[in-house]
Amino acid sequence: MKKFAIFGNPVEHSKSPNMHNSAFKTVGFEGEYFKILLEDGNKLKEEFFTNGLSGANITVPHKEAAYRASDYLDEFAKSVGAVNSLVLKEGKLYGYNTDAPGFLKSIEKFKDIKTILLLGAGGTAQATAPILKNTGYIVTILNRSAPRLEKLKKQGFQTYTFESLKDGNFDLIVNMTSAGLKDKNLPAPKELLKKILPNAKAAVDIIYGKETPFLKLAKEYNLPTSDGSEMLIQQGVLAFDYFTNHQFDLKTVEDAMRSALVNS
Ligand code: NDP
Repeated sequence: MKKFAIFGNPVEHSKSPNMHNSAFKTVGFEGEYFKILLEDGNKLKEEFFTNGLSGANITVPHKEAAYRASDYLDEFAKSVGAVNSLVLKEGKLYGYNTDAPGFLKSIEKFKDIKTILLLGAGGTAQATAPILKNTGYIVTILNRSAPRLEKLKKQGFQTYTFESLKDGNFDLIVNMTSAGLKDKNLPAPKELLKKILPNAKAAVDIIYGKETPFLKLAKEYNLPTSDGSEMLIQQGVLAFDYFTNHQFDLKTVEDAMRSALVNS
């Protein structure tokens, strides 16, 4: 029986064990997946080996620690500086980032999207913006404060703070901040969102399992919306594919994870 886990702080809310255990059962892989509360990111590697793991997912706030813990990084994880999936191969830890490709897959269902406004410039936005751009989307980033925008600006993105964006026309607006996760905050000032949302074709919040104030506001403009469940599933499918060395049909894995999430 191979062991897998998700490291995070907090981690109690995580649905990853339900998703992965359901997929293991469905495809007949002998694996078990559990949660590990990790306070000190510097202990990640030690905990990985002490628990006898074959692979792990890493969530907030340890994705940079997972990057540092990796012996080998795939090209994409190296370029974004954050790892959310670790796989043990011949005693070495291989680091991957499946969040950004998972997000990309999760928005495929929205049609006629050319321009995207990302609200937030944290780890997830930093990883996602380049992959969206490479796929052909025109990406603009709006963040509460300036420092996190610097790197994105250097990469050629249009970036704004709340003070510098007055209004705009964007097909898809995405909340990639943590506003609304544990509070009732909007990710940007309401007056600004009220100018932008009427011009949009869809809105997404990557927070999952609840209707955030942002999604509630977007619905007032009759926009198609989705929460972060789809991204969670898609990043999980890609991680599962790494954990099991690409041997299973990913549609079967996806269906198993989706039904586990719906029923948990
Ligand atoms: P980070 O901590 O790296 O970044 C947080 C971002 O949110 C920063 O841009 C910060 O702005 C902004 N922010 C925080 N609070 C507020 C606020 N009250 N108003 C406006 N902006 C705010 O977070 P991550 O990128 O790791 O995660 C972001 C969110 O995405 C989290 O809620 C996380 O749970 C979710 N997530 C979901 C996934 C899924 O599979 N569905 C996968 C990964 C993440 P500033 O720079 O000014 O501080």
